[in-house]
Amino acid sequence: MTDTKEPATTYTQFACIGAGFSGIGLGATLKLKHNITDIRIFEREPELGGTWHLNQYPGAACDIPSSLYTFSFAPCPEWTSTSLPTAPQIKSYLVSIATKFSLLPSKITFSSSVQKCEWLPAPASRWRLTILSTHPPTNTTTLSHHECQFLFSGTGILFHPNTTPFTSLPGAASFSGTVMHSARWDHSVPLSGKKIILLGNGCSASQIVPALLGRSNNPEVSSSTNNNEEGGPLYNIASITQFVRSKHYVIPSLADLFPLSLLRPLPLPLQRFLCILIGELDFIAMRENALGRWMRRKKTEEVKKYMRLAAPERYHDLVVPGEGEFEFGYKRRVYDPGYLQALHDERVELTGERVVEVVEGGVRTERGRVVEGDVIVLATGFETNRFLEGVEVVGRGRERLGEHWGGGGGEGGTDGGGSLDGRDQDQDQDQEEEEARGVGAYETVAVGGFPNFFMLAGPNSVTGHTSVIIAIENAITLAMNVIKPILSEGSNVREVEVTAQAERRWVSSVQEELNNRTIWGGGGNKSKTESWYVRVDEKTGKRWNAMLYPGYQVGAWYRARKPKQKDWVYR
Ligand SMILES: Cc1cc2nc3c(=O)[nH]c(=O)nc-3n(C[C@H](O)[C@H](O)[C@H](O)COP(=O)(O)OP(=O)(O)OC[C@H]3O[C@@H](n4cnc5c(N)ncnc54)[C@H](O)[C@@H]3O)c2cc1C
Repeated sequence: MTDTKEPATTYTQFACIGAGFSGIGLGATLKLKHNITDIRIFEREPELGGTWHLNQYPGAACDIPSSLYTFSFAPCPEWTSTSLPTAPQIKSYLVSIATKFSLLPSKITFSSSVQKCEWLPAPASRWRLTILSTHPPTNTTTLSHHECQFLFSGTGILFHPNTTPFTSLPGAASFSGTVMHSARWDHSVPLSGKKIILLGNGCSASQIVPALLGRSNNPEVSSSTNNNEEGGPLYNIASITQFVRSKHYVIPSLADLFPLSLLRPLPLPLQRFLCILIGELDFIAMRENALGRWMRRKKTEEVKKYMRLAAPERYHDLVVPGEGEFEFGYKRRVYDPGYLQALHDERVELTGERVVEVVEGGVRTERGRVVEGDVIVLATGFETNRFLEGVEVVGRGRERLGEHWGGGGGEGGTDGGGSLDGRDQDQDQDQEEEEARGVGAYETVAVGGFPNFFMLAGPNSVTGHTSVIIAIENAITLAMNVIKPILSEGSNVREVEVTAQAERRWVSSVQEELNNRTIWGGGGNKSKTESWYVRVDEKTGKRWNAMLYPGYQVGAWYRARKPKQKDWVYR
């Protein structure tokens, strides 16, 4: 039952939606670098951690150099660049940061879902949030309001589980066993002696298979999956039948990669710096030019060789990308947590047969074969290209964020414009508006018509080559530099907003860059397969990629420190 009685409205100068890396990073940075503690973070879940609270499936772990998967201001001495911390370890790290910077216990409101954010124009110049809170143990709910001068969103990029590949199957409701998505793993479900049906073979599935079999090559995972009471494997499953949807380039785990292993003895800040450098160099291979293509060809051959050596021969056709199918880097690479070796285990069956129906005791394939199972695991990924889903954001002039992204344009100033590479492009405005129709944000952070509002891990934040945490920190730095004139003593400025033109130019230049100058435009792939980074409009065939950042992070780092003043309007 929801109590709709209007409670008193609370206020803080800063507010953030979400307590994952973004929200915790914002709170910690405000305290550490700006001496600001007037913040409230609203978190839908009963605990913090975001991705690392929700993804607790067996084997869930970071797969990039972990010296990059910490905040720059808070290295984790236990993690070297080649250690791959598990989800519980990363969550503990975030709890320690939230505690150290006094966000816990008082600055985060848990079990509270932000439903609506509405801009109140001058003289208020504030955001008004509507929040639905759930109260255990009775699970009664209350609605409340909170106001703030600066609103940040940290609602995540891989947040909404994509369950459609299962729910769209005939008979989906008839399965008598347990169905769970990898991001909503239920550890109370007993797996001993059970037959597992696994749908999907991306990053999560590749971690789940070796972890369930006790064969992960990540020491952090294997120490936690070989610890039942007798010291044996935690998951004594009977079998896994894995349904393969598409292929991926599966590359050796970071722990085995030269030259990362050479970095281990170095001090952590130096490891981090060198990892950033290696990551940035890797991005050269993602460019659509002669050097990029040469690097990709070389890498493609190397990786295929590795995959053929590691995986059983009978599965090569199912897992190793075929000649000219798609290039290395086009889809997110999978760092091998022992997956290919685990396919040798006699308890595993890998199949390319399509599932056409769910039956009471399993699934039926296109060949009419019934595969029996007790538990169906959906490692079917997440809805992508979606931001702030479920939150109604109403900006200046009562424009909704969803409309803004559906219709392009926006309001604001007319001068200036920041293209990705700093060039001022003299494009025809109509064409520009057309190109900017879709989800996007200036520098991944700001949207015209939505004053004092900043997105963390916003559209086009994901880097195929380095850590999202770096992108989150860059976004916080940019926002704080833009806000600075408002915060300075005696200032009578209350609002800041990116100009519509700067936003349009940014968004269209990002799409242009991704489609024409990087591998993600289709390039050598010729779109025989699609990457989850890209959405293709079914009617028009137009490609839109609101996931990936198309440049080097060092560029974003620099621009965050020196924002272009002409791209912003202050009132
Ligand atoms: C399995 C998995 C592995 C990954 N591994 C890596 C990796 O190795 N390297 C890498 O760089 N990235 C990785 N990522 C990407 C990862 O999501 C980001 O690195 C990072 O965790 C994003 O942090 P965030 O705080 O922006 O979002 P999230 O961690 O998704 O947190 C968002 C938070 O917002 C809350 N929220 C959402 N909507 C509302 C609302 N309306 N009201 C209140 N709260 C709300 C959610 O409950 C959640 O807690 C991985 C993602 C997944 C799913």
